[in-house]
Amino acid sequence: MSAQNVLDLIKEKNIEFVDFRFVDLAGRAHHITLPATEVDEDTFVNGVAFDGSSITGFRGIEQSDMVMMPDTESVYVDPFTAHATLIVMSNIYTPDGDRYDRDPRSIAHKAEEFLQQSGVGTTAFFAPESEFFIFDDVRYESTMNSSSFFVDSEEAAWNTNRKEEGGNLAFKVGVKGGYVPVAPVDSQQDIRSEMVRLMQESGLRVERHHHEVATAGQAEINFRFDTLTKTADNLMKYKYIVHNVARQYGKVATFMPKPLFGDNGSGMHVHTSIFNEGEPLFYEKGAYANLSELALNYIGGILYHAPALIAITNPSTNSFKRLVPGYEAPVNLVFSAGNRSAAVRIPVAAVTPKGCRIEFRTPDSTANPYLAFAAMLMAGLDGIKRKIDPRALGYGPFDKNIYELSDEEKAEIRSVPGNLDEALDALEADFEFLTEGGVFTKEFIDNYVDVKRAEAKAVAIRIHPHEYGLYFDC
Ligand code: GLU
Ligand code: MG
Ligand code: MG
Repeated sequence: MSAQNVLDLIKEKNIEFVDFRFVDLAGRAHHITLPATEVDEDTFVNGVAFDGSSITGFRGIEQSDMVMMPDTESVYVDPFTAHATLIVMSNIYTPDGDRYDRDPRSIAHKAEEFLQQSGVGTTAFFAPESEFFIFDDVRYESTMNSSSFFVDSEEAAWNTNRKEEGGNLAFKVGVKGGYVPVAPVDSQQDIRSEMVRLMQESGLRVERHHHEVATAGQAEINFRFDTLTKTADNLMKYKYIVHNVARQYGKVATFMPKPLFGDNGSGMHVHTSIFNEGEPLFYEKGAYANLSELALNYIGGILYHAPALIAITNPSTNSFKRLVPGYEAPVNLVFSAGNRSAAVRIPVAAVTPKGCRIEFRTPDSTANPYLAFAAMLMAGLDGIKRKIDPRALGYGPFDKNIYELSDEEKAEIRSVPGNLDEALDALEADFEFLTEGGVFTKEFIDNYVDVKRAEAKAVAIRIHPHEYGLYFDC
């Protein structure tokens, strides 16, 4: 779409406001809104200025001026505003006219260019399965304010059931009992359907939605794969719609990886495949899980770099509360056809050449999708370049349920980092695969590590409610 097409669209749809958006380091969207009457050809040439010093992880106060340059491919009409508003995703530039190297979209674009220059293929496709919880708003507030601050799955299940319209206590969802029962057990069909309706209206091709495994209103909506930056844009749209529909229903949606102790958390499994001029490169009929050597090397790169990669795909202190045994979240750095306890799984649907793909199950939705997809691609491409054979390095294939292995068998298997600081240590020790071709800069990684270390410290120095149970009466 050209700038002129966008201006035509503004007229055609009687758009009153244009909302320019960018994404910060943490993957949160920010916006500045212009009356449509103020938007003309020049806006697309000169961009929209904003103060980069007020955004966590961006520039210092001494270099605050930044510019948003609209990406005309990414426009859609905001489904929530009272006044017709067009949303435009933007790339961030410095006042000198260079792309800002801490802009997550800039890194995503550079990763796509790097793939093309690598000679491996022309296109990488991504499809995230971003799970989330829909909680009762009152519940959320009382949780935030409660002196005990202790949320476990039983308590949350009781609360959800009690709050249900009509109070039908006979239809309870048990802990881990949420996987696809029909109504009245599933009380969130309508809210998910409304989310899907608005996603479709906003241009997302949604494939399905369902209640997820956890007891208290866990949900998943799947939209169709696309190229790297487009999929990250799609995920931003997805989260925006999920959050705002939940709010319209007087509820709150959270993508926090582990909001409830003792029940499943929310992951963001990411499916990936690489094509060259329309030809799939991950498929080889009759091989293990029909995976080509190239796909195996890609998996090798993901698993070999996983401890460092996880600092970007699982970038919160809460991420590591999800990555524990027993909740379908991966703990083990192995690959497997079908096995949900493995970090890399090859889904059953991978039986056709074009459908053949790998699923990296570790990520969660606290990841910035632009950075996470770019980092995954860089790890996989490094595996291809160095012909890393995951079988030779002891990463599988592993088709048993790893949660049920003996201690000796388990000792052979590498695990994900135990907490955010461990993942950041791994990233500091292993970052060159990311800086290949200048996709991520060393300066970016240093800044990222500083921001994340500060988060980990802020959590670590606070008193945890569970400490009262353990130590208060000492
Ligand atoms: N919620 C699980 C996780 O934390 C995944 C469940 C599934 O396989 O969809 O990753
Ligand atoms: Mg799921
Ligand atoms: Mg999955």
